[in-house]
Amino acid sequence: MRARLFWRLGLTYLVLLLGVLIAVDSYSARVVRSHSIRSANDQLVSLFNLAQARPPDASSEVAVRDWTDWMAKSGARVTVINASGGVLADSANGAGDPEKPSDWPEVQQALANGVGRSVDSVRELVCRAQRFQPASDSPIVIRLALPLAQIDLSLKELRQRLLVASLIILVIGIGVSLIFARVFVARVEHLKDFSQRIAAGDFHPWLAVGPRDELSDLADSMNKTAAHLDREIRLLSSERNRSSAILRSMVEGVAVVDAQERLVFCNRAFSDILNVQSVTSEGSPLIEVVRSSELIGLIRKALHGEEGLQSDIEIGIVQPLSFSVTAAPVKALDADRNVPADKPSGAVVVLHDVTELRRLEHVRQDFVGNVSHEFKTPLTAIQGFAETLLAGAVDDPKNNRRFLEIIREHAVRLARVTDDLLKLARIEAGKLELEFFPVGVQELIEGCAETTLLKASRKQISFSMEVPAGIPALRGDASLLHDVLQNLLDNAIQYTPPGGRVVVGAAAGPHEATVTISDSGIGIPQADQERIFERFYRVDAARSREAGGTGLGLSIAKHIVEAHGGRLWVESAVGQGSKFSFSIPLAS
Ligand code: ADP
Repeated sequence: MRARLFWRLGLTYLVLLLGVLIAVDSYSARVVRSHSIRSANDQLVSLFNLAQARPPDASSEVAVRDWTDWMAKSGARVTVINASGGVLADSANGAGDPEKPSDWPEVQQALANGVGRSVDSVRELVCRAQRFQPASDSPIVIRLALPLAQIDLSLKELRQRLLVASLIILVIGIGVSLIFARVFVARVEHLKDFSQRIAAGDFHPWLAVGPRDELSDLADSMNKTAAHLDREIRLLSSERNRSSAILRSMVEGVAVVDAQERLVFCNRAFSDILNVQSVTSEGSPLIEVVRSSELIGLIRKALHGEEGLQSDIEIGIVQPLSFSVTAAPVKALDADRNVPADKPSGAVVVLHDVTELRRLEHVRQDFVGNVSHEFKTPLTAIQGFAETLLAGAVDDPKNNRRFLEIIREHAVRLARVTDDLLKLARIEAGKLELEFFPVGVQELIEGCAETTLLKASRKQISFSMEVPAGIPALRGDASLLHDVLQNLLDNAIQYTPPGGRVVVGAAAGPHEATVTISDSGIGIPQADQERIFERFYRVDAARSREAGGTGLGLSIAKHIVEAHGGRLWVESAVGQGSKFSFSIPLAS
């Protein structure tokens, strides 16, 4: 590029220089010629003044010839012609004349008007003729001609000087233009490198050196452009990073679909929900990635421009999850009018997992139903017996006490359910204050043994403890763990028919100790084993109620054990008995 630009500039200068030289040459030749003709004319006028002062004697041929020779000393050719066109005398003796002297245009003019002038460009002569009227004779015409030979001479000289001057100018010009072109090309090349650097994304400013001119102005404006681009790109990329960080960390699934129903973008939550590979799926047709026809239908509506689309859909077959879906059209800016385009260029869809919300709604509904049900039976009984007493049974000595007993029993039951509910609510709200201390397993079991033995013997159930010595202490709240164990032992006795047996055992692992309560009771069907830990869930509700159970015991026990960082589980077979176990981390 350097050489190309240099030669181009150099040649331009050369052509310009030559053009100027030719123009100067032709102009000066014209000027020199017209100047020479003018001065020759002036000379001829002076000569005629002289001739007028001392005119020839036309009556004597010799005198005319002498006069002609005398005048010819001025360097001019002198010709004297009479009125009829005959040559009286000629200093050149008619040499080289192609035509007759009487035909010369200046002679003709002089004959007609008194004075005639002409320039003979063939023989390079400036001619002037004038008519004289001698007193005695007929008129004569004197014609003087000066050669223009010296014009050529001076032109030649001028040209030579011009050529030398031009050569000097040319050499200096080439030298100067070489230096100038080198500097210029170097600066242009720097600018080119700078613009390539900008195109490659390097926006460091370029400190332009050299004079203040258009090139440095260009460099300044390119620096400004680079700084502006740098700022804009930094801003855009930080905004993009922020948006993608937001999208990435969103629990909602977000996806963008283009007008051709291709997945343009989806965040990790979206790919997790629909079980698609976000990276490989981008650019894939929507129909290949999304199986839910409801979701596809919603996205299509948004692609047709429908706004404010919202729907609840279920995704998955084995474990369906509920999603609240919102879809909206994306309208790109119309490039010409800077307003949103009429047709959407795509759609954005957001999936919000509401499975837990729906589950909680169900739980809440179930809970209200269950609580009402739990309260209704005792309240109806209390109301009924109270009314019976008021209606007169209070005076019936046989039954009044029994009725009051029943009322008290139901009131106690209500109080128990209320207590359990409050306890459960406290645990679930995270307000259970646990006081962790080392709790000996032996002491824990022995603390429940007395009550259990009493209850067991009443039902003719054998109760035994199989606790090996040396089990390390648990880390727990002794009173709450006591409640858990007592509840499990009560259940074991409750659901074991007379003649059965209940055994409580314990074993220690490296990090935790496990307490087991085994009975030879009625057992729990496999399908119910998971659910007995739910609130109010009972395998046989009537039997449980009859026994004064609230259906909340296991639920509370499980919460307490989990609050200790432990587990509670059951193994059971119908008719063979159940084995409840809970493990609690060791104190050390
Ligand atoms: P309840 O107050 O009814 O005993 P729980 O939450 O303690 O409530 O127990 C829930 C249900 O689990 C009981 O209704 C019963 O059907 C079943 N269950 C609990 N323990 C046993 C067991 N040892 N043997 C058989 N069924 C049991």
